[in-house]
Amino acid sequence: MSEVRTLKVALLGCGNVGAQVARILIDDAEALAARSGARLELSGIAVRNVDTPRDVELPRELFTTDADTLVKDADLVIELMGGIEPARSLILTAIQNGACVVTGNKALLAQDGPTLYEEADKAGVQLSYEAAVAGAIPILRPIRDSLSGDRITRVLGIVNGTTNFILDQMDSTGAQFADALAEAQRLGYAEADPTADVEGHDAAAKAAILASLSFHTRFSLDDVYCEGITKVSAEDIASAKEAGFVIKLLAIAEKIDSSDLGSGISVRVHPTLLPREHPLAAVRGAFNAVFIEAENAGELMFYGQGAGGTPTASAVLGDLVSAARRLVLGGPGRTETTTGHVPALTIDASNTSYYIGLDVADQAGVLARIAHIFAENGVSIEIMRQTIHRDSASKVESAELKIVTHRASEAALAATVEAVKGLDVINSVTSVLRVEGV
Ligand code: NAP
Repeated sequence: MSEVRTLKVALLGCGNVGAQVARILIDDAEALAARSGARLELSGIAVRNVDTPRDVELPRELFTTDADTLVKDADLVIELMGGIEPARSLILTAIQNGACVVTGNKALLAQDGPTLYEEADKAGVQLSYEAAVAGAIPILRPIRDSLSGDRITRVLGIVNGTTNFILDQMDSTGAQFADALAEAQRLGYAEADPTADVEGHDAAAKAAILASLSFHTRFSLDDVYCEGITKVSAEDIASAKEAGFVIKLLAIAEKIDSSDLGSGISVRVHPTLLPREHPLAAVRGAFNAVFIEAENAGELMFYGQGAGGTPTASAVLGDLVSAARRLVLGGPGRTETTTGHVPALTIDASNTSYYIGLDVADQAGVLARIAHIFAENGVSIEIMRQTIHRDSASKVESAELKIVTHRASEAALAATVEAVKGLDVINSVTSVLRVEGV
């Protein structure tokens, strides 16, 4: 019987995810060896401070602060330190030494992924990053492998659990953004500095990765239009609810082929109204989901835990076993294809429906004047609802108008909103939100 090969695995980082990866590597060593065709020997764990207490009990002799030496002597390197440096340099060293690399570092991939992918291509090693998008959910491999014989036309993702939790809280309790954020922080769903989540930056990094794999072209963070959820009010959520919608922060990558707007890929992150019956509307709490539309497969949805040490470790181990199999069997590294050559379009080229809330004077002819401005700008109205408010003390009457449009370009919508604002009967434009799934 031929001897089973041993592959040395260097783990960089032993935090939320790294500690769980180390635990599984040790506890499930037999099963992982059977699935990989090689023994996966954890050769060391690089951390900043070897004395920091860990979530998992691990042999002390595995810990080191010398990540560089550890990487140079490994067949497989798992990077779970986060941040740009030294993660980037260590990954490059690993690749140049012929090691396969597994990482969950979406921030690094969104910023400098192309350099890393090219270096991995050149060295013929595998660079895998399933954990970087939507934690435990297997989404990158299905896009890259299972759907490689199809054409993806659109990807809609709830890829940030913190913002989904906050919006869900606002929807179910009527809370304002600040209160829902405080609750998310109290429960550990949001960090003390929640900027990267609530401003949409984390989702934008994942949108760039999803768009790159779906459309076989490398997109970076600079190609992604990004708008977070800080301006979404309890009133927006309540009006959306009344009209049969839920508000979600979506990462969207879609193919646009239009003589007016151009041809290419629109990659964007923004709060979006979805009909309550849309499959993504049912994604509650801190869960993630990615909804894909492909020419031949039709609609697909992937759902699960988008973060957390153990769920994310599952995605890391999946990549590790796959890389180990390749080392055992030989052959070139499995990379993403970049033959799409499609340009990234700006937000002006996107073409969606809009929800517009207006506070207007309750006077005869107001509706007709507003409808006329929409028509003049080529934005057609699908739904218009009016609610009258009477203030008995001041005897002032005003009306709340809720309008849902048919699909229109961002430019046409902006021109419409500007023109509507100029009408003397408009007290304020209370919300302008994009709608998907109608
Ligand atoms: P974490 O809890 O902050 O852990 C980071 C680990 O890296 C710590 O063990 C830390 O060492 C070590 N480290 C940081 N800088 C280092 C340096 N310069 N030299 C040596 N060691 C260093 O991070 P995490 O939550 O596990 O996340 C790890 C990666 O996975 C990130 O890229 C993150 O974006 C990604 N990810 C995380 C999740 C999640 O749910 N947490 C989900 C998907 C993807 P010390 O312990 O000594 O400080």
